[in-house]
Amino acid sequence: MSVSPFSVQAVRSLFPALNQTVFGKQLIYFDNGATSQKPQVVLDTLAKYYALENANIHRGVHYLSQQATTAYEAARKQIQQYIGAGAPEEIIFTKGTTDSINLVAFSFGERLNAGDEILISAMEHHSNIVPWQLLCERKGCVLKVIPITKKGELDLEAFDKLLNERTKLLAITHISNTLGTINPVKELISKAHLFGAKVLLDGAQSIQHLSIDVKDLDCDFYTFSGHKVFGPTGIGVLYGKAALLDSMPPYQGGGDMIAKVTFERSTYNTLPLKFEAGTPHIAGAIGLGSAISFLQSIDMEAAAKHEHDLTTYAQGILDTFEGLQLIGEAKNKTSVVSFIIDGMHPFDIGTLLDKQGIAVRTGHHCTQPLMDFYQIPGTVRASFAFYNTREEIDTFITALQRSMQILGA
Ligand code: PMP
Repeated sequence: MSVSPFSVQAVRSLFPALNQTVFGKQLIYFDNGATSQKPQVVLDTLAKYYALENANIHRGVHYLSQQATTAYEAARKQIQQYIGAGAPEEIIFTKGTTDSINLVAFSFGERLNAGDEILISAMEHHSNIVPWQLLCERKGCVLKVIPITKKGELDLEAFDKLLNERTKLLAITHISNTLGTINPVKELISKAHLFGAKVLLDGAQSIQHLSIDVKDLDCDFYTFSGHKVFGPTGIGVLYGKAALLDSMPPYQGGGDMIAKVTFERSTYNTLPLKFEAGTPHIAGAIGLGSAISFLQSIDMEAAAKHEHDLTTYAQGILDTFEGLQLIGEAKNKTSVVSFIIDGMHPFDIGTLLDKQGIAVRTGHHCTQPLMDFYQIPGTVRASFAFYNTREEIDTFITALQRSMQILGA
């Protein structure tokens, strides 16, 4: 199944969820930053797994268990190759980005000491703030925050000043879920490495929109969620450099993560299983493998161009609206258009759009400190995927104008 060269209509036809009405209107799904829809091939893979292939992995001698183990490990290999990791052992299956970051905060964090500094940015998702706060409480580490400009770009001069030999980890989002800003992560990584700091990239938003090569980026950790990249919920990935993961203690104890257990002490399995205690989300991993195969059938360069076109098109029109303020105007941004309108609560706008069949997200988008920075309660956020169209944006604009009339603009 190949849909190259890129054709929006051909891609759309592969997503059953896009072909439905909501409140009697054709659904327009602009909430891809929260989660993406699933292509039929992923749904089929999940159904087939549960119908015919279901078995627990790694421990069974029987046919089905071996089949399931092979499929699970094949998905790991596929993800390794897709993001350019050096070996399958560097791919740890987790529940998602949040789980991956918590794993690092706990396990990498075990080696940190009071006074060690962790550097994040002002545009982080709560998932890349709170785990570090918990670590700071546990270990006496210090959390430092790179400020941003009003346009929603990192203040790189401030970054240079914040980096020092106490910085043990830079944990930063690759793309902001609220602003769409694409951070200059390669530059940040090489600078952080000069001080011996490790770097974790929150890839929750970048995996869907950019081609990722962790070796080229030279990040130490990269995290993402399956559900934002056309795969199932409840499955995600932590990539880590093998030597670093090897040096870290296990995160959770249980089956599969051990080499030998006695009541006196236990020894641990090798990578990656050391970090995969208990029965994992087998169907999820296989489903994610299927989502990655799907992505590999797409001309990602053309898809990214199309998404960029959607973003600039929507932004260009919204920019002309009186009383509307775009939040997030970075030069290098993708697929997210966040805005507020004078005198109107984002929630009211979102509710009126919903009644017209249009799914957007409203609120703080799990970035409350960012909302505090802009001194706003939240935004309306339209976030696009490559299956969205300019025609959908036109309909959205008309619906937004109608909503503004109703709300008395
Ligand atoms: N980081 C970013 C930038 C995100 O957009 C999200 C999801 N909105 C997360 C982290 C958390 O992802 P998940 O809820 O899938 O763990």
